[in-house]
Amino acid sequence: MNKEVRVRFAPSPTGGLHLGGVRTALFNYLFAKKHNGTFILRIEDTDQTRFVAGAEEYIVDCLNWCGITPDESPQQPGAFGPYRQSERKPSYKQYAEQLIASGYAYYAFDTPEELSEKRNEQPNFLYGQKTRMQMRNSLTLTQNEVSELLAQNVPHVVRIKMPTDEQVTFTDMIRGVVSFDTNLVDDKVLLKADGMPTYHLAVVADDKAMQISHVFRGEEWLPSAPIHILLWKYLGWGHEMPEWAHLPLILKPDGNGKLSKRDGDRLGFPVYAMNWIDPKTGDLTKGFKELGFLSEAFVNLLALLGWNDGTDKELFTLEELKQAFSIDRISKAGAKFDFEKAKWFNHEWIKAESAEHLAPIVKNELQKSDIKITDETFLLTVIDLIKDRCALIPDFIAQSAYFFAPPTTYDSAAVKPKWNNEKADFFHSFGASLDPELAASELEAQFKALAETKGLKAGELMLPLRIMLVGGKFGPGVFDIVKLLGKKETSNRIERGIAEFNS
Ligand code: GLU
Repeated sequence: MNKEVRVRFAPSPTGGLHLGGVRTALFNYLFAKKHNGTFILRIEDTDQTRFVAGAEEYIVDCLNWCGITPDESPQQPGAFGPYRQSERKPSYKQYAEQLIASGYAYYAFDTPEELSEKRNEQPNFLYGQKTRMQMRNSLTLTQNEVSELLAQNVPHVVRIKMPTDEQVTFTDMIRGVVSFDTNLVDDKVLLKADGMPTYHLAVVADDKAMQISHVFRGEEWLPSAPIHILLWKYLGWGHEMPEWAHLPLILKPDGNGKLSKRDGDRLGFPVYAMNWIDPKTGDLTKGFKELGFLSEAFVNLLALLGWNDGTDKELFTLEELKQAFSIDRISKAGAKFDFEKAKWFNHEWIKAESAEHLAPIVKNELQKSDIKITDETFLLTVIDLIKDRCALIPDFIAQSAYFFAPPTTYDSAAVKPKWNNEKADFFHSFGASLDPELAASELEAQFKALAETKGLKAGELMLPLRIMLVGGKFGPGVFDIVKLLGKKETSNRIERGIAEFNS
């Protein structure tokens, strides 16, 4: 890469952050890190009608959680600010005027009523080369009329004047050569009646001001690319234009089309990175984090949605991704989202992480269920023993609760019919003779030897023991549980279990 790499993630602060947005941020970040570049967060907040309070802070929190922290952002500005679009307002007007002066844009005075009338008359109405001369704008009005309307502050917008019979062609880093026929693109609004730019003008002006070298964004922005490319040219900056990369869509698991929040609600999985509470309605939308995903797993699974390293390798740390990432391995085709696969990633990551790393996250989860942790070392041992059984962090609750308090219910249906005094006697003896110094395998040997002396089958005693200790038919090796609970707790639970089975 011979030019300095500066890339940006440019979300609009309109609500929860969709996993596709996080993936866009991630690919920007990986590309920046791979090329010793700068990763920028820019908040695109010029659409005042869609602005949602708290959304910017939420976006920042999501990026921090994922470990893809921007080098420059509204919170940590660099030398290319402002990092919120609304704060750059005066410069956009100047660019719109420059475009009008050079004949690439025009004032349009059509009222919303006039526009909706036109749309009623012509259902497929597009404000563009076929229709612009029927409208009230500076192409159809005299110069005096225009000056007067402007002097009277009559509400107006500025529109780009799309050229006739041109092809806008560029090389997308992912899709190769892409061409657009300008006759099919409408005269998009560049500056709105409130003096704010639209996305099209703002994105070009900001990318120029921030010296953005490469634009990574979702494929849904591809139809906007010809407008942006023409604006770069028309503003006289064609030679500084960034390179473009339109990322494949993340598709719904069933059928076609982009994965939406509605699909998540319908199919029962999250689509946002973190919990989002709509400030107006108070409605909560669950996120991956709160559902119990590790950020390492979330980042890993997002990276693999539309990218691979050319091998079968699926598990990557962020550090490994930084090294392995390359644009030529991003696929052109959309990637179907599979929640079961997402959980698989999380399970693999829970297994791979150390108990020390998991402990604060697990502890927080257990405390939400009123499980009191007093002994951190004990917690670490528990985590090590059960993490293989947990795909989501809340799974640690059911899988570990019995380590912190004796079971309150017993799944005794499989035990009771075969329960008898000999077994009760065996368990009294086993409980009493437990040696806390023994290893789990030695405890097992002792258990089996005792069963033999008493003429019982050890195999038939394992399940009762497990249910006495755990309450149900689950959990790791039962002698690992005995070992961890210790002599006193194990024999107490054995006595409670005997009473339960005798009843
Ligand atoms: N503000 C746009 C969005 O919300 C950014 C598109 C772009 O990156 O150009 O996704």
